[in-house]
Amino acid sequence: MKLIEEVGELAEAIRKDERMKEDSIKGTIEEELSDVLYYTAMIANTYDIDLENVFKLKEKYNSKRYGFNIKIDK
Ligand SMILES: [Mg+2]
Repeated sequence: MKLIEEVGELAEAIRKDERMKEDSIKGTIEEELSDVLYYTAMIANTYDIDLENVFKLKEKYNSKRYGFNIKIDK
């Protein structure tokens, strides 16, 4: 549920175009993206999911399905 809350906060920050200025991160897109990533990682850890591997598999799937390719490996 925290993830959903953070996505809502991210949407609000984007709507207001709140960007980080120097060290002031509170309520910004940068802060909320970090929060969303944090809770995403927490959920992955809870279910013992290798997010990097899943992301690569999903990109392969999307590439075949939608015909585009995003290079995520070095
Ligand atoms: Mg937040």
